Amino acid sequence: MASTVLVTGGTGYIGSHIAVALAAAGHVPVLLDDFSNSEHAVVDRVRELAGVAVTCVEGDVRDTALLRRVFHDHPVTAVIHCAGLKAVGESEARPLAYYDVNVNGSLRLAEVMGEAGVNRLVFSSSATVYGQPDVLPVDEQAALRPHSVYGRTKRQTEEFLRDLARANPNWHIAILRYFNPAGAHPSARIGEAPRGRPNNLVPLMCRIAAGEYPELSIHGSDWPTPDGTGIRDYIHVQDLAEGHVAALAWLAQHAGARTINLGLGRGYSVLEVIAAFEKACGRVLAKAFGPRRPGDVACYYADATRAEREMGWRATRALDAICADAWRWQQAGGRYR
Ligand code: NAD
Ligand code: UDP
Repeated sequence: MASTVLVTGGTGYIGSHIAVALAAAGHVPVLLDDFSNSEHAVVDRVRELAGVAVTCVEGDVRDTALLRRVFHDHPVTAVIHCAGLKAVGESEARPLAYYDVNVNGSLRLAEVMGEAGVNRLVFSSSATVYGQPDVLPVDEQAALRPHSVYGRTKRQTEEFLRDLARANPNWHIAILRYFNPAGAHPSARIGEAPRGRPNNLVPLMCRIAAGEYPELSIHGSDWPTPDGTGIRDYIHVQDLAEGHVAALAWLAQHAGARTINLGLGRGYSVLEVIAAFEKACGRVLAKAFGPRRPGDVACYYADATRAEREMGWRATRALDAICADAWRWQQAGGRYR
């Protein structure tokens, strides 16, 4: 059934794709964002792709007065909570900022949701909560051993959300652990637009192929993997966005807190990703092996069967589509201004 859904962080990379997927499924997205890591131009792009009126509220998810106003002004029945800080390296240097925005921001949001009687919540968690898993593919019962402050803010938020659902059976909460989101909307109107030099592999390859940076450093050649480079599970951002729509439908029928991996369910090494990207863009990237990146782990990829079994969702777009769509977005400029 169509509903009004608040998307915090709704002008960010993942939130903007979720907003468009929500509209395609007949829902009405309301975006909340402080634009600390996004551009105002995203809003018009989302409106254009959504084809419906999309309200965007500018402000901070920790601002309880603002949240109260949003729930008062809009008939919100569910929240998808993407607002947060996500740079692993920065989280080590600014731990308090990360705990404040990610944990405290989620607490404030849950409080005001409770007051407003809105009890359906989808939370953006991350596979980084697993650290290096003992068993692959990694399922939702694996131990949580995050290697970074960022990962620990996600683990703490997950924990308090599970406690909340245990204390009050009215809550319906989906904790979605994303693996490695990448790619862009196939229209190339929205995509990942990191400020400055990208840290992540796919956006960095886009900018190297476009001539903005000279060379890709491959972080380590001696990992215990078949070709010595790190293995990750790359999930197309469109699949990820559709996973949130599926989670909302599932939540309508299920109380409690449920944790669900969103991944493709297979891993690719850095060398495999580079080869797929070179094929997509028709160029050969300058690249060299460098040292391991501090905090990295060798290998992880999802056991994504719970999502399929329980929510009827699975990722359908493969690495080729991720690379093709990321490159199309880069060729269209790869940013909003
Ligand atoms: P993003 O930075 O593009 O989007 C986050 C949005 O939140 C931004 O638009 C930013 O302006 C906004 N924001 C930040 N602090 C805020 C605050 N205090 N109040 C209101 N808005 C605020 O990041 P993304 O890649 O779209 O990630 C979305 C969510 O998914 C994050 O919670 C992130 O931790 C999680 N996640 C991302 C990845 C990934 O690889 N991109 C992987 C796993 C989990
Ligand atoms: N990587 C790399 N060079 C880069 C950026 C990333 O070799 O410039 C590797 C990284 O070590 C990891 C994989 O690419 O094995 C994915 O890294 P990314 O930062 O995209 O995502 P993460 O898994 O760290 O969240």
